[in-house]
Amino acid sequence: MIPANPEPWEPDLWRVMLKNAIRDSQTLLARLGIPAIETDPLPAFPVRVPEPWLRRMRPGDPRDPLLRQVLATSDERVQMQGFTADALGEATAVITPGLLKKYAHRALLLASPACAIHCRYCFRREFPYEAHGPAHLETAVAAVAADDSLTEIILSGGDPLTLPDDRLAGLIAELGEIAHLKRLRIHTRLPIVLPERITAGLLAMLSASRLKVVVVIHCNHPAELDGDTRRAMQLLRRAGATLLNQAVLLRGVNDSADTLSALSESLFEQGVLPYYLHLLDRVTGTQHFEVDENTALKLIATLRSTLPGYLVPKLVREIAGAESKTAIY
Ligand SMILES: *Cc1c(COP(=O)(O)O)cnc(C)c1O
Ligand code: SF4
Repeated sequence: MIPANPEPWEPDLWRVMLKNAIRDSQTLLARLGIPAIETDPLPAFPVRVPEPWLRRMRPGDPRDPLLRQVLATSDERVQMQGFTADALGEATAVITPGLLKKYAHRALLLASPACAIHCRYCFRREFPYEAHGPAHLETAVAAVAADDSLTEIILSGGDPLTLPDDRLAGLIAELGEIAHLKRLRIHTRLPIVLPERITAGLLAMLSASRLKVVVVIHCNHPAELDGDTRRAMQLLRRAGATLLNQAVLLRGVNDSADTLSALSESLFEQGVLPYYLHLLDRVTGTQHFEVDENTALKLIATLRSTLPGYLVPKLVREIAGAESKTAIY
C-alpha cells in the first residue's frame, strides 16, 4: 500500500541507479533467466535498462512486452524502404541548436541528450545530439525570450529529467522569467522507468514556478505501472502538475485492444489521462515495431466503443512539414 501522503525519494538514489543500468543484451537476458539469443545492437544506440524496469519484466519470458521494448535484436539491421534517419524532418525545424519549432506558439527545447532507458523504437535514435549539446542551452533560452509568439516550452531530449536538480532548477527559473510563456511542459519517461527521480528538489522547483506545469509521461503497456509509479504520479500531482500520457503503438508490445484498454484504465487509476497514441515514426532500425494504419484504426474504434471518451487517446501520426500532429482518429 502507498500511504496517502508518500514521501519523495532520496536525492541521490536515481543517479546511482542510472549509473548501474544494464548496458548490454546478454546481461539483460541472463538477469531474466533467458538463454542467450543472437543480438546485434547498432553501436550508436546501445542497450540501456535501469533496475526498476527490469523488476517489472516476467523472468524467463522472451516475449515479455517490456523486454521487447529494450532488447536490441538483429531485426534492427534490416533495411526497409521508407525508413530513414530523419523521418520527422526535424533538421528543418531547428531554430537554433537545441530548439525545435514546428508548431505555432510552442517550441521544444532539447534539454538533455541522455535517457534512462533506450527504447528500441525511438524516433530520436539517429538524432545528431552532438550538434544540440547542453552548451547551446543558453542561446536556445535567449531565442525563446526573443520570440513572443511562444506561450509554451516543452522540455524534451533525450529526457530532460536526466539533468541534475541544480541545472534543471536554473533552466526552469530562467524560463519562468520570460513574460510571454504561460506553460512549461515536460516530456519524460523517468516517472515510469526511474520513479526514484521524483525527489524533493524536483518537486520544489515545479511548485515554485509561475508557469503551469504539464508532465507528459511515456508508458506503452500496463505492466510498466506499479506501486512506485503510483507514488511518483501522486507526488507530481501534489506539486501541481497536470499528468498526460503518450504511447507508441508497437507490434508485439501493445497492439491489442485489451492491452490498450487496460493501459488507459491503469493510467487513470494512477492519475494520468491518455493523450496521444502515436503511429510509429519510420526511423531506420524500427521497422519490426510497425503496426499498419488499418489495424490501428480498428484498435482505436474498439477502444471508443468500450471506454469513456476521456480514456481514448488520440491516434496521431507525425508528418514532416505538417502544422500539427496529424489526427488519424
Ligand atoms: C510533438 C511536438 C510538439 C507538441 O505537439 P502537441 O500537439 O502540442 O502535443 C511541439 N513541438 C514539436 C517539435 C513536436 O514534435
Ligand atoms: S525515453 Fe523517449 S527519447 Fe529516450 S529512448 Fe525512449 S523513446 Fe527515445
